Amino acid sequence: MEHPFLDTRFGEFAWCFHCERVHKTASWEAKDWECPACGASALDVQPWEGVLSWGYGYPLRPEDGEYYPQYPGESAQAAGL
Ligand SMILES: [Zn+2]
Repeated sequence: MEHPFLDTRFGEFAWCFHCERVHKTASWEAKDWECPACGASALDVQPWEGVLSWGYGYPLRPEDGEYYPQYPGESAQAAGL
């Protein structure tokens, strides 16, 4: 799927830098590329493949709507969002 202005290809899932949750890319698209969970703008979206490249061992097929922190070691702090 094509992002409206980022030069990035998205697969089935897209992740949010703001709430650190993953949703189906189709859900983002349905909301004009706002985060389905927190309403963050289209600039906060990241393809799930990009999250996988950080090497935390997250699943290839994530749970829709699940929380996957950007810094797993600091998840206790991040969970206070
Ligand atoms: Zn979000």
